[in-house]
Amino acid sequence: MNWQGKRVTVAGLGVSGIPAARVLRGLGAEVTVVNDGDDERARAQAAELEKLGVTVRLGDGATLPDGTELVVTAPGWKPDKPLFLAAEAAGVEIWGDVELAWRLRGPGAAPWLAVTGTNGKTTTVRMLASILAAAGLRTAAVGNIGVSLLDAVTGEETYDVLAVELSSYQLHWAPSLRAHSGAVLNLAPDHLDWHGSMAAYAADKGRIYEGNSVACVYNVADPATEDLVRAADVEEGCRAIGFTLGTPGPSQLGVVDGILVDRAFVENRREQAQELAHVSDVNPPVPHNIANALAAAALARAYGVEPAAVRDGLRAFRPDPHRIERVAEIAGVTYIDDSKATNTHAAEASLAAYDPIVWIAGGLAKGATFDELVGASAKRLRGVVLIGKDRALIREALARHAPEVPVVDLDRTDTGAMSAAVREAARLAQPGDTVLMAPACASMDMFVNYNKRGEAFADAVHALAAEHA
Ligand code: ADP
Repeated sequence: MNWQGKRVTVAGLGVSGIPAARVLRGLGAEVTVVNDGDDERARAQAAELEKLGVTVRLGDGATLPDGTELVVTAPGWKPDKPLFLAAEAAGVEIWGDVELAWRLRGPGAAPWLAVTGTNGKTTTVRMLASILAAAGLRTAAVGNIGVSLLDAVTGEETYDVLAVELSSYQLHWAPSLRAHSGAVLNLAPDHLDWHGSMAAYAADKGRIYEGNSVACVYNVADPATEDLVRAADVEEGCRAIGFTLGTPGPSQLGVVDGILVDRAFVENRREQAQELAHVSDVNPPVPHNIANALAAAALARAYGVEPAAVRDGLRAFRPDPHRIERVAEIAGVTYIDDSKATNTHAAEASLAAYDPIVWIAGGLAKGATFDELVGASAKRLRGVVLIGKDRALIREALARHAPEVPVVDLDRTDTGAMSAAVREAARLAQPGDTVLMAPACASMDMFVNYNKRGEAFADAVHALAAEHA
């Protein structure tokens, strides 16, 4: 593609827009950045870009600049924005950050092993990168995490293969992406205000399979993911590969007697299955995380990685903070930080992993309902401590589905509430129990983000431990 003089409009300053503008300008394009906001930070960023010869329009992200030949958008911008409607009316293509990276990758560039899903993306991509590294491959975990996708394809560093995390927004704006292999981990309602409907959300996730050359990896327990494989247009010879926590069928990876086994990529045809790793090699070895490990293993095996490297990579993997992180054991009670459980689907997975539980929950519900989560978890709850703005929704669901479970409603949204919640949880817990902070809600009513919420929990637990020491 000849970028010299091409008039490109970049929608949105920010983590994807600024690098996109720089790279495109470096290639010789005439770049205009349009941005809704016009605050001090935006002005400083604009000044930096203007030094490179980029035009920046602050306070107007709606109008399409005259003569635009291509729009490159930040993934979070909603498709019904006037800017996009104008571009579509003018027959101008719209690319997201992922599409741009895909188009800019050089000849002989590293193939992509891509992961999406409502929950577990970051964990799975990191596990995958760990496995690929254990196989001696030059790789990186890229996407919403670690190295940016644009850097990975345009930077100095070269890679054999990339482990790529993709959100539903990014997939929406990446029409020509063709991964080596892709996986949809699971599908639960999320971001529906953006996509418009569950069907549209699923269809955007399903784009990860389009044009796959080797494997489309789906979750046997989540038939909607298999439906997406069926709907996809893939290269000849590309296989549908399932992962399951049960005994695997042919073309599946699964678990037999505590061993992760592969029945999809069996080298020796006389053998029924290839042993990959022990369940205890997965960190932490809780069901949904074993599913993540199987998905990562499926993608690595599709790329030709040996079983021993799958095992070594899983052993070497360390989860990111605030994802089912064990903080301490105090008086026989284990305290676990799953602050990243910001929606009900994630919280349900971690609540399924422990018994009995004292559950710390609440925050911003983002329109979610809690009946299914509470119904599925009720039997394992020793008690519940509620904090945050939308806690009444959880309290009401508890009253409907778990009326006998003691509930402490702290009626607080200040940051100090977490320390009070930990104390209440400690009071409810008995030796052998798990205190699990998996709020099923976003954190922004009380904290800057889920990291800060997790840190507040860990601080409170450490303070409690110090008193017991
Ligand atoms: P994402 O990148 O998709 O947000 P993460 O790997 O950061 O996913 O995990 C986010 C949270 O989702 C975790 O804290 C955990 O509670 C939950 N989770 C992780 N894997 C799964 C899974 N396979 N199914 C359901 N929930 C999961």
